[in-house]
Amino acid sequence: MCVLLKSHWLRRIISPSLSHSGILAIFGWRMLTSVQLKTDLYIDGAWVKGEKTLPVHNPANNQVIAEVQLAGDKECEAAVTAAHNAFPSWAKTAPRVRAEILRKAFELMVAESDQIAKIISMENGKVLSDAKGEVAYAAEFFRWFSEEAVRTPGDFRAAPSGDKRILVTHQPIGVSLLITPWNFPAAMATRKIGPAIAAGCTMILKPASETPLTALWIVDILERAGVPKGVVNLILPSKTGEQISKMLHDPRVRNLSFTGSTEVGRTLLKESADHVLRTSMELGGNAPFVVLEDADIEEAVKGAMIAKMRNGGAACTAANRFIVAKKIANEFTTKFAKAMSDLKVAPGLEDGAQLGASVSIKERNKIAELVDSSVKAGGTLTIGGQVPTGEGAFYPATVIEVNKENPILNHEVFGPVAPVVTFETDQEAIALANATEYGLISYVYSQDLKRAIRTAEAIESGMVAINRGVISDPAAPFGGVKQSGLDR
Ligand code: NAP
Repeated sequence: MCVLLKSHWLRRIISPSLSHSGILAIFGWRMLTSVQLKTDLYIDGAWVKGEKTLPVHNPANNQVIAEVQLAGDKECEAAVTAAHNAFPSWAKTAPRVRAEILRKAFELMVAESDQIAKIISMENGKVLSDAKGEVAYAAEFFRWFSEEAVRTPGDFRAAPSGDKRILVTHQPIGVSLLITPWNFPAAMATRKIGPAIAAGCTMILKPASETPLTALWIVDILERAGVPKGVVNLILPSKTGEQISKMLHDPRVRNLSFTGSTEVGRTLLKESADHVLRTSMELGGNAPFVVLEDADIEEAVKGAMIAKMRNGGAACTAANRFIVAKKIANEFTTKFAKAMSDLKVAPGLEDGAQLGASVSIKERNKIAELVDSSVKAGGTLTIGGQVPTGEGAFYPATVIEVNKENPILNHEVFGPVAPVVTFETDQEAIALANATEYGLISYVYSQDLKRAIRTAEAIESGMVAINRGVISDPAAPFGGVKQSGLDR
């Protein structure tokens, strides 16, 4: 079945009458190009059906936008076999060829960025400006790794004994299982696929079940860019835990790259131990945003808005706890709350929308529960905190002043909620920042660079942004310490 839509009709895709298990064809910007949005699984270079289908919802109105195929055991097994069979020749393919495929994928992604951004916004709920930012960031992983593919370093050195030489070379590891979350459905996929293609690995991508359409589009781009059959496969398991476990126990799978919650990451690490798989784990965060008393408050508020509200707060890098010097807390909180309350809350595709829906009602309700329990524990709402009436998984921008025992400080909120806690000394700020099992990223604001660096170095996190609200860059290593993950 095929439904044709003109670009300015795109929003009709949310009509339940258009939900189906076939192919949605979306005509591109100004009708210059046409690209089909796939809903089938991609295995061994073919688009195939699975054992049943899964509806994908638009969280802004809870309507079904498409039905995608779910893989049974047979399709999961076929994906591993395809990746395994494709590996020997792909590993030997010239780096220049792999680089050019990635470069082509980058160019296609940029050319189709408007359509991809709309799909992200529809299935994830984020506003179009965030979705466009994500597509640009995601495409950059293809460009960066197309450039890296031809620069695999090695090492040649004399042994200390002087009688021999040591030659170090890098080899592709083999079949890689890539599992991604719903919050950045494009960027988390390209961040894994780009380096795997560059290195000569073959792979099985498993996107989050809430947001598979973006990943399907990206795999379609890779096919059009010339990725040989079997190198990239995409499955959506019908029984995620059971089928992924089986794959992790298949000796042909050699590598797991997972981005998602710490809870699921722990389970997958245990599963990976049985076959001593190489793992890259990008897990949860609970980022402190520390504003020292000599910070430029206007700049800190601007940075806080970016660090908190990019992606509606649903980012592992999102500022999750605002730790503010007592002397300036009142001014900071007043200005920050004003900027938060000025945001236009609306469906992601609506003009001027600045805060969209959460990915689902279930995720929205989790946010609401955290805020309600924080208030019960003594937190004071400055703004927000009420679930809006009406359809869609919306939650308002919320600022809540809490003391350092408040339970919200121990949870990754993953929504537009900013708890503010105050401190007297820099040592106390550092202790508060480190009072968490997580250690992905932190933010420090101070006009004294020496003081900022001293504080940054004392905070236990894989990355620190000083006087900045955003840190991610495809060219920079990315990752956490403590329970925020392993590897970069
Ligand atoms: P999640 O629930 O852990 O799910 C992530 C992925 O794991 C999804 O594809 C999910 O599939 C899959 N999954 C769930 N249970 C599984 C199991 N038992 N075995 C194998 N796979 C399983 O996380 P999420 O809610 O999608 O994403 C939010 C989390 O991701 C947050 O904690 C956030 O901090 C983290 N994150 C971290 C980074 C980073 O770089 N550190 C970046 C982005 C997000 P289904 O959808 O089928 O359940």
